[in-house]
Amino acid sequence: MDCIFCKIADKEINSEIVSEDGDFVVFKDINPKAPVHLLIIPKAHIGPVSALKAKDKEVISGIILKAQEVAEKVGVAESGYRLIFNVGKDAGMEVEHLHLHFLAGKIFDF
Ligand code: 5GP
Ligand code: ZN
Repeated sequence: MDCIFCKIADKEINSEIVSEDGDFVVFKDINPKAPVHLLIIPKAHIGPVSALKAKDKEVISGIILKAQEVAEKVGVAESGYRLIFNVGKDAGMEVEHLHLHFLAGKIFDF
């Protein structure tokens, strides 16, 4: 499958990886929208939120728990962070591999 995030997970495409375990990779967004802008992806290809199935429950909870862990690692657990799933065209979704945006380091005023 020609999926850019699968290629990042497989290291076929370089990225600035912040952390990695057996199931997830966390890397810096190439076009950051905040001082800290990371993407959390499952290593296995899973489609966007609109395509999730009941069998994906573990990945869905895992990606959020990973965000909590990342917050500790990058030192924003206290100051706060924003988690975003873009879904579909109007949200500006570009990549059809499940990814959670992790944003921090500024005050989000909406
Ligand atoms: P979406 O709009 O699909 O929710 O978000 C996709 C994100 O992936 C965008 O914020 C974009 O900047 C980021 N992105 C796209 N291609 C690459 C890439 O090759 N490397 C990295 N690090 N980020 C990417
Ligand atoms: Zn993929």
